Amino acid sequence: MDTPPELIDFTAGGPQSGDLDVAWIHGSESAKHNTDQDIQVHAYDEHTFILRQNMAVNYEAPFMFLLFGNARAVLIDTGATASADFFPLRRVVDGLVDTWLAAHPRDGYGLLVLHTHPHGDHVAGDAQFAGRPGTVVVDAARDSAWEFFGFSDDSGDGGDSDGGDGGIRPAHVDLGGRVLACWPSPGHHHAAVTFYDPHTGFLLTGDTVYPGRLYIQDWSAFVRTIDRLIAFCDTHPVTHVLGCHIEMSRQPGVDYPIFTTYQPYEPPLQMTVEQLRQIRRAIDEVGGRPGRHVFPGFILCLDED
Ligand SMILES: [Zn+2]
Repeated sequence: MDTPPELIDFTAGGPQSGDLDVAWIHGSESAKHNTDQDIQVHAYDEHTFILRQNMAVNYEAPFMFLLFGNARAVLIDTGATASADFFPLRRVVDGLVDTWLAAHPRDGYGLLVLHTHPHGDHVAGDAQFAGRPGTVVVDAARDSAWEFFGFSDDSGDGGDSDGGDGGIRPAHVDLGGRVLACWPSPGHHHAAVTFYDPHTGFLLTGDTVYPGRLYIQDWSAFVRTIDRLIAFCDTHPVTHVLGCHIEMSRQPGVDYPIFTTYQPYEPPLQMTVEQLRQIRRAIDEVGGRPGRHVFPGFILCLDED
């Protein structure tokens, strides 16, 4: 007789606080002599992991997120490097899943691989998950990802009708008692997606919002996306806004140049809802003018058309 698995209640009492007091690996003066782990794993809580890729392996050093539900886990983004030798994402994720399942035994546990957007430094490890049992990898390209989420063609534009959810009703992805809300978030990339996790209160913003250079491909779409996220934050408990990179230094308005592989004075990854509002005010100030617009905690980068 099998005993039914112990079901974790991910909803009781609103967002649970966890540990973000972490020193991230941040490269080294000599990339060649870097001794950091290939992938740093930080447990926010026992069901929530934040991963960072080694900066010497790829200067983008993106962050990834692994969230466990009762029925399956979701991995959001797969990093900047395809090679499992240099970037053993599959091995690290398998280890975390094995450990979690040892503590919370259940049969037929699944893995879902989703993405914040299809840029190469967020999808490179996808192939490592090909053929993994119980695993669904949703291609990050707009057609496949939006079909999975059920976003329609006009999800990214207009539609400011329904109030509380910021103009567009989110899609929901159920991990088994842990239900993520997901929005189309064009602006940085036309296929970008933002995720909200009610268990932690995390808003996972990909490259749309992070402490760094916010490269805006479509200005008006970016403005609508930020408005939508703020409207959601007005009505829901968001604890941390977490993007996928750190490019600023701790000195306000000073970023590490692109291709930097040593960032000893990084600010925290997590941003606040107030910083999201600062981005909104910066939007008004910039007004869609092309250029590099420097603010204390982020830089808005907008190309000439
Ligand atoms: Zn990107």
